[in-house]
Amino acid sequence: MFFASDNGGPVHPAIMEALAAANEGDAMAYGDDALTARAIEALRAAFEAPDAAVFLLPSGTAANALALATLAQPFQTIYATADAHVINHECNAPEFYTGGAKLTAIATDAGKMRPDALAEALDPARFHSEHDGAPGALSLTNLTELGTLYSPGEIATLTGIAHAAGLPVHLDGARLANALAATGASPAEMTWKAGIDALSFGATKNGAMGAEAVILFDPARARELALRRMRAGQLLSKHRYLAAQILAYLQDGLWLDLARTANLRTATLANGLGNIPEVEITPAPAGNILFARFPRALHQRLLAAGAEYHVMDGNPTAGAPEEPLTARLVCTWSTPQESVDRFLQTLRRLTA
Ligand SMILES: *Cc1c(COP(=O)(O)O)cnc(C)c1O
Repeated sequence: MFFASDNGGPVHPAIMEALAAANEGDAMAYGDDALTARAIEALRAAFEAPDAAVFLLPSGTAANALALATLAQPFQTIYATADAHVINHECNAPEFYTGGAKLTAIATDAGKMRPDALAEALDPARFHSEHDGAPGALSLTNLTELGTLYSPGEIATLTGIAHAAGLPVHLDGARLANALAATGASPAEMTWKAGIDALSFGATKNGAMGAEAVILFDPARARELALRRMRAGQLLSKHRYLAAQILAYLQDGLWLDLARTANLRTATLANGLGNIPEVEITPAPAGNILFARFPRALHQRLLAAGAEYHVMDGNPTAGAPEEPLTARLVCTWSTPQESVDRFLQTLRRLTA
């Protein structure tokens, strides 16, 4: 009954096999190898972006922080949401790698940035002088950190507001595959066709061992990102092992198949939870993350029964038993249907 994180699962066997196959003989280091060239071409093909600049990286935090550093100056502001990974979970890496750009939260509705709030934040009347800083970039996340989904049209509305103000737009795609599986949109439709300039492309949470990419749809900033990656110590010398993961991940649409499975498990979990009166699901899940509120006493008994998940807004072990607390339940491609069934059975038994 493991629902703590989509980083908790194993590496997909096809990716493990690709790593073993890459582990033959010698290859040029630092990305000058044939597998890396093929991985870059595979990402360009998947995104219908033959001119994009592609950089493989070992972590999503590095991808986000380095992408944002190429988009925003130290005296500028990056707009995101209060729940955004770049604001909350990266130990100020974006501030560090941008050299001090400010991150500002824009109001949300169910985890999704509100266009009116973004437009208000970018109103030129707010920027009278150098005292006010300057707008630098917009950073969105899809799936959002609250497990909700922007459609390509919703992304385009937000990027339109940003572009009108002269801002480039970054998308944190740690769970882009889940967003694509949920909408059926193509990778291009969800990104550059909707106005995304730079993408952090996630693979680790969806079956890789540790491989992410930054895709700059406008390659003008490619050299800067290459220099920044090296300076940050994020240019992996044995690059072929990143490339092998990305190639296997994209091969025959594996990445989208894995995301579909993760989303399906989550939908099944949400269905079952919806029939338990003590449990409130909020917001409605679109992909592979769901949030469920129920009393502390029930958390205690579920966790004691072996369920593993994070409680977001309080200590499950101490406090009033009737106080509702929110569980974050995450499924991944490797979550067995049996885990979902057992979790629901346990909850039904405990609430009977
Ligand atoms: C997991 C995650 C990342 C990347 O995290 P790393 O642990 O640095 O790979 C980035 N953004 C979001 C929204 C995430 O959930």
